[in-house]
Amino acid sequence: MANSKHEYVKSFEVQDKIMLPTLMVVVIDGRNFRRFSEAHKFEKPRDRKALELMISCANAVMEKYADIIFSYGYSDEFSKILSLLVSFFTSVYTLKWKEFFPHQKLLYAPSFHAHIIRCPTLEVLQNYLAWRQNDCHLNNLYDTCFWTLIKSGKSESEAHGRLKGTQTQEKNDLLAQNGIDYNALPDIFRRGSYIFRDKENKAIMEVSYSEDSKKKIVIEHCNIIDDDFWDSHPWILG
Ligand code: ATP
Ligand code: ATP
Ligand code: MG
Ligand code: MG
Repeated sequence: MANSKHEYVKSFEVQDKIMLPTLMVVVIDGRNFRRFSEAHKFEKPRDRKALELMISCANAVMEKYADIIFSYGYSDEFSKILSLLVSFFTSVYTLKWKEFFPHQKLLYAPSFHAHIIRCPTLEVLQNYLAWRQNDCHLNNLYDTCFWTLIKSGKSESEAHGRLKGTQTQEKNDLLAQNGIDYNALPDIFRRGSYIFRDKENKAIMEVSYSEDSKKKIVIEHCNIIDDDFWDSHPWILG
C-alpha cells in the first residue's frame, strides 16, 4: 500500500502516542458483567470465586509483564500496552474459568473494556488508588444492604427506595438489625485487592514467582487510603 492514495490512513494510527516518562494506570473492567454475573449465578452481593478469578488473571498479567507495578512505563504507545494487557487478561479469564467454576459452564465469551489513567505525579497515583478503594467500600456497603433487603423479600425497586439518601451509619444499622457486622466482613469485599511485587526475600503471602523479575508477587487487601501503606511499602513506587 506504500505510496498509494490510501496511505494517508497511517496518520490515524499514531493518535494514541504519549510522551514518556509518565505513570500510567490501566483500568480493566468487565463489559456488562451485571448480565454476566447473573447468567453465571455469581453469589450476591460478592462472589468470592469470581473475585479470585479476576485476581488470578491480574496476577498472570503481572507475571507476563515484569514492568507492571501499579503503573506501566516502558513503551511509547499506550494503545499497544492497552491492547496487549486487555486481550491477555481476557484470554486468561476464559482459560482459567474452569479452575474457579468447575460446576458452572462458561455460557458465552466475556469481554473487558479498558482505559488509561495518566498520572503526572506519584501523589496523583496514590490519590487515584485511594479514590478507587473508597469507591470499593461505598459500593460494597450499598450492595450488601441491597442484597440483604432482596434476600428478606423486598423487590429491587423497594430495596433501592429504602436505601435512597441513607448515610453510612444508617446502612450499618440496617445490616446490624439483620445480624451483619459490616466491619467484620472479609477485607477482600470491603477493600478490594492489591497485587504488587514484594521486596526481595520478604514474602507476606506468597502467590507466585514472576520469572522476569525474580520477585514474589503478593496480594493484599489492606487499607491504602492512609499513608501507612505507602510508608511501609516504599519500594513499590520507589
Ligand atoms: P459496564 O460494561 O459498563 O462495565 P457492568 O454491568 O459490568 O457494565 P459495572 O459497573 O462494571 O457494570 O458493575 C459490575 C457488575 O458485575 C455489577 O452488577 C456487579 O454486581 C457484578 N459483579 C462483578 N463481580 C462480581 C462478583 N465477584 N460477585 C457478584 N457480582 C459481581
Ligand atoms: P507482533 O506481536 O509484533 O504482532 P508477530 O510475531 O505476531 O509479532 P506479525 O507481523 O503480526 O508478527 O506476524 C504474524 C506471524 O504469525 C507471522 O510469523 C505469521 O507467519 C504467523 N502466522 C499468523 N497467522 C498464521 C497462519 N494462519 N498460518 C501460519 N502462520 C501464521
Ligand atoms: Mg466495574
Ligand atoms: Mg463492568
